[in-house]
Amino acid sequence: MTAVSSVPSVPSRALVLFSGGQDSTTCLAWALQRYAHVETIGFDYGQRHRVELDCRPVLRQRVRERFPQWAPKLGDDHLLDLALLGQISDTALTQDKAIEMQASGLPSSFVPARNLIFLGFAASVAYRRGLDVLVGGMCETDYSGYPDCRDNTMKAMQLALSLGLDTRLTIETPLMWLDKAQTWGLAHSLGGAPLVELIEQDTHTCYLGDHHTRHDWGWGCGQCPACELRARGHAAWREATRA
Ligand code: ZN
Repeated sequence: MTAVSSVPSVPSRALVLFSGGQDSTTCLAWALQRYAHVETIGFDYGQRHRVELDCRPVLRQRVRERFPQWAPKLGDDHLLDLALLGQISDTALTQDKAIEMQASGLPSSFVPARNLIFLGFAASVAYRRGLDVLVGGMCETDYSGYPDCRDNTMKAMQLALSLGLDTRLTIETPLMWLDKAQTWGLAHSLGGAPLVELIEQDTHTCYLGDHHTRHDWGWGCGQCPACELRARGHAAWREATRA
């Protein structure tokens, strides 16, 4: 009988890619439920609207105040200046262009390889901070086909980053196979009505940066693809829970 010389340790310290939107806030709650210590990272890359970034500290504060079971686990926040990404991108999110479908079949809101770049920087921060899992809201189900959100891309990145850092780094994507209605449902299962209310009131998803018009699903123009997706998912989830 051979003795087991070493057992891989279970990831316990997480870094959440936290933009201040619905998806990443749900991921933050998921990580706080699961791991002993959770830090957050955000990227300022010259987004046309900074509303989302402004939501981040508010959300972190509200999580601390309203979820005492999670508060002691919530560690530092890291906001990285990635202005360079804005300079090399030619897209609707960083420049004053309309969001439309392009010949490639991707919407013009696509910043090429954005998530690969984010994960690289996140891995670098995680390594220095002793964090062993990255958590992101990437999703194949309800999205616009961004290739850098796909499950295989994430698995390839996990392998590349683990090899490149010579340490085991796990990438977790709890929303990968959920549609937007199920993402609302996940939030409810994690933090009940208080978490759903927090996401409705204090997150931002609208591509146009409208944070003045309040709907039952949250703030936004109600017209852009991000608002439509969020509104449709919210309505479907409410409908399903009513039945
Ligand atoms: Zn909108």
